[in-house]
Amino acid sequence: EGTNDSDDKPTLSVVTEAGFMPFTYLDKGEVVGFDIDLLAAIMQEAGYDYELDNVGWDAMLLSVEDGEADLAIAGITVDEDRKQEYDFTAPYFESTHKVVFREGEDITSGEDIKELNVGVQSGTTGAAAVEKILGKNHENISKYDSNTLALMSLQSGDVDTVVTDNVVAEEYVANNPDANVEMIADPDTFESEFYGIMFPKGSEIQEDINEALQTVIDNGTYAEIYQEWFGV
Ligand code: GLN
Repeated sequence: EGTNDSDDKPTLSVVTEAGFMPFTYLDKGEVVGFDIDLLAAIMQEAGYDYELDNVGWDAMLLSVEDGEADLAIAGITVDEDRKQEYDFTAPYFESTHKVVFREGEDITSGEDIKELNVGVQSGTTGAAAVEKILGKNHENISKYDSNTLALMSLQSGDVDTVVTDNVVAEEYVANNPDANVEMIADPDTFESEFYGIMFPKGSEIQEDINEALQTVIDNGTYAEIYQEWFGV
């Protein structure tokens, strides 16, 4: 229940893709993560009730585009292409990409993935970053429906390396000590980007949600959630 005037506000339909640990993922069947806690804080501040559905990446984008869902949160990068199709809040998290690979591969820069088989999550900024290096739809690029699947195929040897968002890469490497994987950053190759909450174009609630995000940042709630998930 919201603390404000939730009675006269609609219950919002929120979609996510819970395969993006630590931002949004499944724990014992429940969708949890940094983004999910931030969402709860924002909704309480804005006074909306909401229903959260884990629908997968492509369905998430489609249902927001259609206006079937009111908003989406899943470590979604705000970029110029997406701004043509969707509206976004102000940024709430800075990100870049990292290269994850099996121990022993000689990878010291982003360019080193050029001769390798690279796994990416289809339709993400990581996929776009890899296509900038290898070429669009290059035969050495394997596109997966989720980040989880891409990382699984790294372990099984189907690909040599996976390019994904830095915090997600770090979480994966830290949580899988037996996977024999390592990672590198390369700020010369991979640009900085920012996550935002995504709305259908012309959404009537985006101002409310954006204001609530700003309040949650200003009043220290964001810092508390950040501390909980990322320490320091
Ligand atoms: N930040 C990346 C993007 O928006 C990946 C997001 C994700 O896979 N959930 O494309």
